[in-house]
Amino acid sequence: MSKFWSPLTASLVPYVPGEQPKDKTYIKLNTNENPYPPSPKVIDAIKAAANADLRLYPDPTCEGLIQAAAAYYGLPAQQVFAGNGSDEILAFAFAAFFDPAKKLLFPDITYSFYKVYAKLYGLQTELIPLDEQFNVQVDRFHSDNGGVIIPNPNAPTAQLLPLDEIRALLENNPNQAVVIDEAYIDFGGESAVQLISEYPNLLVVQTLSKSRSLAGLRVGFAFGSEELIEGLNRIKNSFNSYTLDRLALAGAVASFEDEAYFRETTAKVIATRERVTEQVISLGFKATESKANFVFISHPSIAAKGIFQQLRDRGVLVRYFDQPRINEYLRVSIGTDEEMDALIAALREIAGS
Ligand SMILES: *Cc1c(COP(=O)(O)O)cnc(C)c1O
Repeated sequence: MSKFWSPLTASLVPYVPGEQPKDKTYIKLNTNENPYPPSPKVIDAIKAAANADLRLYPDPTCEGLIQAAAAYYGLPAQQVFAGNGSDEILAFAFAAFFDPAKKLLFPDITYSFYKVYAKLYGLQTELIPLDEQFNVQVDRFHSDNGGVIIPNPNAPTAQLLPLDEIRALLENNPNQAVVIDEAYIDFGGESAVQLISEYPNLLVVQTLSKSRSLAGLRVGFAFGSEELIEGLNRIKNSFNSYTLDRLALAGAVASFEDEAYFRETTAKVIATRERVTEQVISLGFKATESKANFVFISHPSIAAKGIFQQLRDRGVLVRYFDQPRINEYLRVSIGTDEEMDALIAALREIAGS
């Protein structure tokens, strides 16, 4: 607390990102980063952009990047927005679309940044409980609300909602924005981008951080009707017109030009996920059905917090959430096969089998 803080600053409860420790080299399975490097074409493009033009401001409209993303999904450029990571776009969307006079709806177990943004913007919230199996109960998102936001697949549960349920959600909420946060959609889901021509209230948010190995570049997208994209641009241009720098723009465009690499690395992550899921189950854990680049696991008799600590002592970092309903679970990002072999070996010791 400081006397220099505004009442808003004093009221905030900021997001706590997964740790990025510097004390020793860990096997890092705690922030859902991609274990594979970005495409070499991305690195080349960034190097080529590191030139004297850095004295100039970047393109505030992100035109080249927006065209690349629009072409990728077969959309007009007016239906695409680019931002400094999807977190920034989510922050803009909260300001642009959610009505403070009504409640914003999201699942009780979900991406913890939503609560933080709601507080920042003074929005009331209503948490809609997942069912016992951690499925999103779409039919409970239908009250007179100020907006809806759901990650698909959900985090940290990793479970996917099929498109027909997203469709039901949109049908039930025609008069407010429905934001689908698709940070993990490329690991086995079907994107709701294909629904935006039918639903002017649908905003789909994606990121290059997970499936394109570019968490360090900070690039995200939103796809939606022209009116929603214009709403995001109104907020962005009331905040910071240059959210994406020249290097990020160059690297992000190049990532769309290497589809083969993208497919190969996501397929590897998926194959490793399937193998690891079977292995942890054979060690006595249960796991949700993951369509993301992480698994969500729980042991029936060993406390998750203890497993977290024992893994840490063995140099393996995973994520533990000390919150109701999920405090016996661990979220484990999918690393390389070698990293996951080390995880399995450590879990085998800890589970004593
Ligand atoms: C990782 C993640 C994001 C943030 O992605 P950035 O583009 O790196 O900001 C957003 N939503 C969910 C659900 C995520 O897991």
